Amino acid sequence: MAHDHDHADHDHDHDHSHPASELSPMELRVRALESVLVEKGYVDPAALDALIETYETKVGPHNGARVVARAWVDPAFRAHLMADATAAMRELGIGGRGGEHMVVVANTPEEHNLVVCTLCSCYPWPVLGLPPVWYKSPPYRSRAVIEPRAVLAEFGVTLPADQRIRVWDSTAELRYMVLPMRPAGTEGLDEAALAALVTRDAMIGTGLPRTPERNA
Ligand code: FE
Repeated sequence: MAHDHDHADHDHDHDHSHPASELSPMELRVRALESVLVEKGYVDPAALDALIETYETKVGPHNGARVVARAWVDPAFRAHLMADATAAMRELGIGGRGGEHMVVVANTPEEHNLVVCTLCSCYPWPVLGLPPVWYKSPPYRSRAVIEPRAVLAEFGVTLPADQRIRVWDSTAELRYMVLPMRPAGTEGLDEAALAALVTRDAMIGTGLPRTPERNA
């Protein structure tokens, strides 16, 4: 392989000051992998930093929480969201890779929605950020379909016995987000305060929004 890599690229300002002994095995592996990729010229460290920065600060569950809060206060937005989630989210400036074809499923007193990817780990990145480890785990992926009520109990969620659970299987093409029900006692809250009640798990369906009391 005659790749003439410009070694001036190595003059980047990553923080390499942590002694290796302070790092977990996973961190060591990631660092080793990054070094090899940069060394071989496959990735530009600045591009890697930009990517990480994007997923740490710009893309994340706070985006989904904004969508949910808007839907709670604005019936027209909610209708648009249910009809064409991708377009409605774009109105709020939310979209991109992993969110090209979004579908929002709304919880009701009769039906609770739960999202899984049984095949791998498809996840709506633009609204929820990077998936939690459990979402990608084989037990969650199989049991969410077979025994959703037991899985929810393990997440601390006990639903009324007469509330059905509907499980949605995400794919690379189609990704789901749950619109939880607006908690009681939130009539006086503005959109920002409402968004603060919306957890990542509430938008996957493995959790419920916080109530104002619990949030305080
Ligand atoms: Fe997947």
